[in-house]
Amino acid sequence: MSDFPACPECQSTYTYHDGNLLVCPECAHEWSDQEPASTDEQPIYKDANGAPLTDGDTVTVIKDLKVKGSSTVVKVGTKVKNIRLIDGDHDIDCKVDGIGAMKLKSEFVKKA
Ligand SMILES: [Zn+2]
Repeated sequence: MSDFPACPECQSTYTYHDGNLLVCPECAHEWSDQEPASTDEQPIYKDANGAPLTDGDTVTVIKDLKVKGSSTVVKVGTKVKNIRLIDGDHDIDCKVDGIGAMKLKSEFVKKA
């Protein structure tokens, strides 16, 4: 009794492992039983220094950022609490004191 899968070519159950391959001794078929690489890995968000960011982090803005559609500027040094990481060009969803909800780019902040 073996745990190896039967040969997909001839259905032989006398298959065995050879390195990363499975080999069938009856028809000489070789194939891989490696799981395909997972494609739904969590994206990794990094701040300006390459430090990983996570939901709920507090970050500091490292550059004056104009708020789109207004004359408001988020000044360098502004602390932003409780960020939420999202998919997209602007990957931080947050609320800035005195300004309100907005989106930032992780490359323009550093972890506080
Ligand atoms: Zn076979």
